[in-house]
Amino acid sequence: MASSLIASESAEDVISNPAKPQLVAPEPEHCPGPESLQAGKSSQCQTCPNQKICASSPKGPDPEIPLITQRLVNVKHRILILSGKGGVGKSTFTSLLAHAFAISPDQTIGIMDTDICGPSIPKMMGIEAETIHVSGTGWSPVWVTDNLCVMSIQLMLPDRDSAVIWKGPKKNGLIKQFLKDVEWGDLDFLLVDTPPGTSDEHLSVNSLLKESGIDGAVVITTPQEISLLDVRKEIDFCRKAGIRVLGLVENMSGFVCPKCRHESQIFKATTGGGRGLAKEMAIPFLGSVPLDPRIGMACDYGESFFDSFPDSPACKALEDVVGKLVNAL
Ligand code: SF4
Repeated sequence: MASSLIASESAEDVISNPAKPQLVAPEPEHCPGPESLQAGKSSQCQTCPNQKICASSPKGPDPEIPLITQRLVNVKHRILILSGKGGVGKSTFTSLLAHAFAISPDQTIGIMDTDICGPSIPKMMGIEAETIHVSGTGWSPVWVTDNLCVMSIQLMLPDRDSAVIWKGPKKNGLIKQFLKDVEWGDLDFLLVDTPPGTSDEHLSVNSLLKESGIDGAVVITTPQEISLLDVRKEIDFCRKAGIRVLGLVENMSGFVCPKCRHESQIFKATTGGGRGLAKEMAIPFLGSVPLDPRIGMACDYGESFFDSFPDSPACKALEDVVGKLVNAL
């Protein structure tokens, strides 16, 4: 199956239209188009190996996209937070970025946690025990502060340790509900925290937000080549999907001792690190955020690292990232 899919569909096809049926053979000459109303029914289809797939697949663009566009009409900026690999601190960065934006009381921030199988944002934001409210007008996100709210599947689970064992279509359905049914209201920034890699969740968000518009993506890496390797794929995904890369952030970039402030390199940038990769890929480098064990503790306790350690080197580095990001927007 895998080899025939590779033979019949390019990555660009899948990224630009994830709703397109996954064919088992190349489209023949005079094919009416697998997404057309005639798909699977025309005379050309009768001898085509894809006939059953095309005949049973949904046709046309998602009819609920206009509802999503309407729901997000008062959201000024939509930003994806991506990483090629897990464990680089993407969700931690999302939570820090949200707190950094929320320092300004004039700005309202939302986080949409699309990591359906590993939601960690509610824990980091100190709202793990909260649940969402459902009313006739939609789902209310949980408010962390007066100007910072979160929507995550974690806030809908019967208990903290319940596993979410969902396949693609179910995950995509929930992401659509997060965009269509949540009362996001007036937001300055909607930060979309995604799982690592390039999979169903990324394709769904990209296709559902095509009409509303995505301002761009912030890509997170650590300095080692093993992480950079996957970041190249993530940037390639953004290019194929037409998503602007707002910039690359190097996380865990050196360790600053909280006591003596001496900096050591834990993860060595053997091939130039994030800065080198940004140059190589011709994308902006937003900055390096040092490893600080107090960030992990703040996340464990669901506290704002910005409030607790505003003068730390990590906070200063994050402020720099935020400044460059705002300029890019
Ligand atoms: S079944 Fe019809 S629509 Fe589908 S690929 Fe074959 S010819 Fe095209």
